Amino acid sequence: MSSEALSNYTHDQWQDVAARALKSVETRLFIDGDYRDSKSGGRFDTINPANREVIASVVSADESDVDVAVQTARSAFRSGSWSRMAPRDRMEILYLYAKLIDEHAEQFAVLDTLDMGKPISDMLAVDVPASVETIQFMAEYIDKMEGSVTNTESDVMHMVLREPIGVVGAVSPWNYPLLMAVWKIAPALAAGNAVILKPAEQAPLSCLKLAELFVEAGGPPGIFNVVNGVGEITGKALALHNDVDKVTFTGSTEVGKLMLQYAGQSNMKRVSLECGGKSPQVFMADVGDMDRAVSAAYHGIYANMGEVCNAGSRVLVERPIYDEFIDRFIADGKDAYVPGDPLDPQTNLGPLVTDDAQNRVLSYIDIGKQEGAQLKFGGDAPDINGAYVNPTLFTDVNNDMQIAREEIFGPVASILPFDGIEEGISIANDTIYGLAAGVWTSDLNKAHKLIKEIEAGVIWVNSFDEGDMTQPFGGYKQSGNARDKCIDSLISYTQQKSAWLRLSE
Ligand code: NAD
Repeated sequence: MSSEALSNYTHDQWQDVAARALKSVETRLFIDGDYRDSKSGGRFDTINPANREVIASVVSADESDVDVAVQTARSAFRSGSWSRMAPRDRMEILYLYAKLIDEHAEQFAVLDTLDMGKPISDMLAVDVPASVETIQFMAEYIDKMEGSVTNTESDVMHMVLREPIGVVGAVSPWNYPLLMAVWKIAPALAAGNAVILKPAEQAPLSCLKLAELFVEAGGPPGIFNVVNGVGEITGKALALHNDVDKVTFTGSTEVGKLMLQYAGQSNMKRVSLECGGKSPQVFMADVGDMDRAVSAAYHGIYANMGEVCNAGSRVLVERPIYDEFIDRFIADGKDAYVPGDPLDPQTNLGPLVTDDAQNRVLSYIDIGKQEGAQLKFGGDAPDINGAYVNPTLFTDVNNDMQIAREEIFGPVASILPFDGIEEGISIANDTIYGLAAGVWTSDLNKAHKLIKEIEAGVIWVNSFDEGDMTQPFGGYKQSGNARDKCIDSLISYTQQKSAWLRLSE
């Protein structure tokens, strides 16, 4: 059943779906078109952060399993079963693949919700439909991709061809387990590569189904493989492997830097990085529609429990509207997100992904208090079982505080005052990150200046966290070096070949 058709399910129905899903959930590796156990027999538990129960014991890949997956992918790639398939045929398979994902929306939604605590309503409204759309978008471009013939001397024909890179290792995070994996595998597959996906160990289940459906849609075995396991073993083995041609990574800046090292220590593979953020939203005094602005400020940090790479975690407010903005943020934002069971369609705030994440976010809240920021609401965990943290607001934050500099990755908003546009820009840019920014003003000239001078890969003007598939999504500075979504993403999984044909007279 598609995600649209599931929007009327009740809490009881989702609990039934969850119980059924867990009875039949697949936990093995997916290699060469089928499920298999690891050579080592290693396993790890995945835990539901909403009740701290073990959901499943998942098969874990060590170096030798990763090696098998890479060899399988290499031989599938070289066989040409996918890379040399007629473009229209590859497109048809990916269209059917997108359709199958939509038809399995129930299973995808419930698996990610159980694994990492995301509200089921978000899975249906965002993660599943956006995954379907990503695959469709990338498929649509397959037979539109062109090389070129350049101007050369008359007895030479010089063609520039675009070819797949080969074997792509994809390492993905847990905050949108299905969608972040799809942002990698869809363009890589559309370009004709073979892929080995290493999902985050906190949310390993939905990606297995993702690979299974590719084969069901007609994708050749060995072209899409999944190896679960912890980052330091499985992810590292993949990124260090000498027969992987490209690693595409989404996750923390810290691990992104390791990916660059692994490439240097091995075969100089290409590395695409989508990393962390500390995104500012800059609200000028002439903001215009204050209701929309305040709403974008709290949704921008509390949605998905604040576990969003581009979360608007630094709310910069120009001094003349500072007090009013805070009053409205408290009035409208304090009770906008209510912790609850993420399987309840009414819930909009689930638990954080793990107990460790809960402890880390609570310790940042302690740091904020010690640094002298004003705690206006939240700051604690609700009295329910699970890794929850209440939506939290700090005001009077300055940009030197740790809570303004480091990625908290939880529902913690910091409001910072500023005086004038130059100071707003200077604070916005005073960060190692540069993923995204929101700017709010009714003055076109100010909007233009903010767009030009803020160092971020994505800038929303008078809106936040909107977009479609045409939008390049990725960061400046230490937020990464690549772009997801968009046509450039697909192109980044190809390489150019120059073919110089000397013609006889
Ligand atoms: P993480 O860096 O801890 O893990 C990401 C992936 O890397 C996981 O699959 C993990 O197993 C693997 N990994 C961890 N250590 C490794 C190692 N030593 N070698 C190889 N692989 C390793 O990140 P996370 O906690 O899963 O995700 C949250 C982070 O992701 C945040 O920083 C967030 O901002 C970022 N993120 C960025 C984007 C983006 O588009 N820029 C999107 C989503 C999340």
